[in-house]
This record gives sequence, structure tokens and C-alpha cells, in this order.
Amino acid sequence: MEGLEDPKFFGVDTDLSFKKGMYMTKIKSLHAREVLDSRGHPTVEVELNGFRAICPAGTSRGKYEAIELHDGGSRYHGIGVSRAVENVNKIIAKRLIGISLDQQRVDEILCSLAGSNKWKIGGNATTAVSIAACKALGEKILGFKPSVPVPFSLIVEGGAHAGNDLSIQEFMLVPLNFTTFREAIRAVSEIYYTLENTVVKKYGKTASNVGYEGGFALPISDTKTVLNLISHAIEEAGYSKEVKIALDAAASQFFNSKYNIDGRSLNASQLADYYLDLTKIYPIISIEDPFNEEDFESFAMLKAKAKRFLVVGDDLTVTNISRIKKAIEKDSCNTLLVKVNQIGTVTEAIEAVTMARKSDWNIVVSHRSGDSEDTFIADFAVGLGALGAKFGAPMRGERTSKYNQLLRLEEQTILTYAGRNFKLP
Ligand code: PGA
Ligand code: ZN
Repeated sequence: MEGLEDPKFFGVDTDLSFKKGMYMTKIKSLHAREVLDSRGHPTVEVELNGFRAICPAGTSRGKYEAIELHDGGSRYHGIGVSRAVENVNKIIAKRLIGISLDQQRVDEILCSLAGSNKWKIGGNATTAVSIAACKALGEKILGFKPSVPVPFSLIVEGGAHAGNDLSIQEFMLVPLNFTTFREAIRAVSEIYYTLENTVVKKYGKTASNVGYEGGFALPISDTKTVLNLISHAIEEAGYSKEVKIALDAAASQFFNSKYNIDGRSLNASQLADYYLDLTKIYPIISIEDPFNEEDFESFAMLKAKAKRFLVVGDDLTVTNISRIKKAIEKDSCNTLLVKVNQIGTVTEAIEAVTMARKSDWNIVVSHRSGDSEDTFIADFAVGLGALGAKFGAPMRGERTSKYNQLLRLEEQTILTYAGRNFKLP
């Protein structure tokens, strides 16, 4: 079997043998089209030398992310991407076709064409081109030790992602103490359906409805009630020792001069106390975006108080080195959430990871709420040796396709599971 220690696996999103001989040294063809993401919203797909990439899109987007270019007007209620597609087919193709296939060179050209925050061309155009180039190269990322990441797997959804009244956007399972990803994802699936069983009995069949990323959109508005249900499901499924809980508060979404959560209106330090209280009662090991995306100081306050705990920057840091630098200086986080489309090119996302790693941060590679059948981020997470893979619930094809790619990569290589010896900071 192909693969093992030095495989050309990175960027390969389908059968390894099929792609053999398809790697070219030059960019021969580049074409974009408008396709749909998992929410049914239009997005950009690119084919470069026959390698396909689809740009994902967020719902609770950070204020400082690269610009997603939309058409306006009445077509698709204004969110069509035909202008971004045209930018690839006319402007980007003209500059890239014929040049040698080199990730940094491609991304430099994309950055120079797109301007600050990618506003001229659209981050949705540059992201799809950059990822397609990365796949067409089919190479390992230099300077990183690959491993198979821990799924930060969604189980309950709220916030902007679901039609319920939960303030916290995501409740995730983190199966740390397993020897393989294969066993870890099995635990996640078993707990997921243990919870479904309980909530359908308790709240009726509408409780099995799911949000954008496949998490249960429970008809509950109180954080502790959800955490009780999840903790019991972990216990009932027999995984109390191995499986912990992570939250993505996505707190900018419930911040309006104060934080509106669980029927209360809290300031930042009251909210920090609330989080700390939760970590004492429940096996929570990680909170992403616990405060508003401008508030580096409150992140730092929580990080200083919470020991052996991940404070994750997503909307705060937006995979952008100037934001990450500020978060390092202020000691706001110890973990970086990485989304290529927040910054717009693969090279810049790798620079973000390199900077965070230098400060001993952990890396979690993430999908978006509007995602697709593209499995690039699975290869990317493996290639970076990321701690975590935040790819949504163990259900819905656009989420499971990525977990399934991790299953393949684990089987085809001798890489270790990142949760095996992981120690909290
Ligand atoms: P988004 O949410 O894709 O809607 O931005 C995902 C996240 O916040 O991690
Ligand atoms: Zn987030």
C-alpha cells in the first residue's frame, strides 16, 4: 500500500493510486464555477490541473476575516458569487496559467491581486484557488510532524447555527485518551446516539432535529441543562474516562455591551466566573471565543485563571498573523483555530500556524458551518500535525466525509493519534 512515513498524502482527497501521475509542475488549467455549500448557499469551486476545491463559508463570521465577495441584487437573494467566479476565470487565470506550480508563488500572486482583506478579488475566490493548487501539488507541508488529529466533534448546536435559544453555539465531544482515531470516532458516534435516545424520550421527537453542522438543536435555552445531558450521555455510553467536553461560545454573537446568556446579562468578569464554575462541575477542557472578538484582555483573564485548559481563538484571531501576534503579546490564548478561508490562502494559514506554534499554542483545524464535500481540511490537519479536527457532528455527509478521510489516512499511514499522549497545558 502507498503511504507510510513519507507519503505524498497531503492534499490528496481521493484514492491515492488514481491520482498518481497526475501531478504537474506547471499550472495548465484553471477554471471556477458557482456551486452550493451545505446550507444551499452559493460558493466558489475551482479546478486547477483537474484538482477541485470548494471554498467553505461561515455563518457566525468574525469581523476581521477576509472579505467574502457576493454579487448583491436579487439573484440568490443577493448572495450569489458569480463576480468571485469571474475574478478567478478572468483575472486570476490570466496571471496563473503557465507559471510553475509553487504554493508560495501562487499565494503571493493571489495576495497581490486581492489587496487587503482580499477585497478586490474576494477571499472566497482566493481560498478556492489556493486550496486547489495545494491539492494539485500533492506534497507534504515542510517543517511539521504529521499526526492524526483528535475530533472536536459537535453534539449540540445553538447560537447562530440553530433555531433554538441556546447562547453557546457549540457543545463538542473531545475523545482524548484513545490509541487510534478509529476508536475515538466510534466513541463519538455512540455518545451522539445515546444522547439522541435520551432527548427524544424527554423532549419529544423534535429534539432530534439538527443545526447547520449536524449537532442536535435541542429545544432548551439553558447551558447547564445541556451540559448535564451530555455528561450523562458520555457516562451512559461508558466513556467518562476518555471523553471530555469543549465549548465554542462564539460570544460575539450574544454580546451587546453585556453578555446575554441563560436569561442573565453578564459583564466579562461575571462571564469568566460563570465559565470557571462550569469547568468545576463538568469535564470541560476547552472554550473557544469565550468573549467578544475585540476583547483580548478578557481572554487573557480567563486563561490566567483556568489551569490545564484550552482557551481557543477563532473570531478573535481569524487565522491572521497580526491578530495572533496581539493575542500572543497579551497572552490571550493557548490554542489557535485555523480556517483557511478566514485569511484566504494556504500559505498565510500555514504562517499563522507557525507563529502560534512558536508560542507553544495547540492547533485545531476547523470546517465552517457552510461546508461541502471537499475533504481538504482532513489532509491539512494531518499534514500540520494539528491537535484537533473540528469538523462538526458525526453525521451529515459534508462533516463525515472529512472524518472518513481521517480514517483512510490513519489506515494508510503509520501516523500516531494526537490524543494518545496529549497533556493539557
Ligand atoms: P462559522 O462557525 O463557520 O459559522 O463561522 C464555526 C465556528 O465558529 O467555529
Ligand atoms: Zn468558533
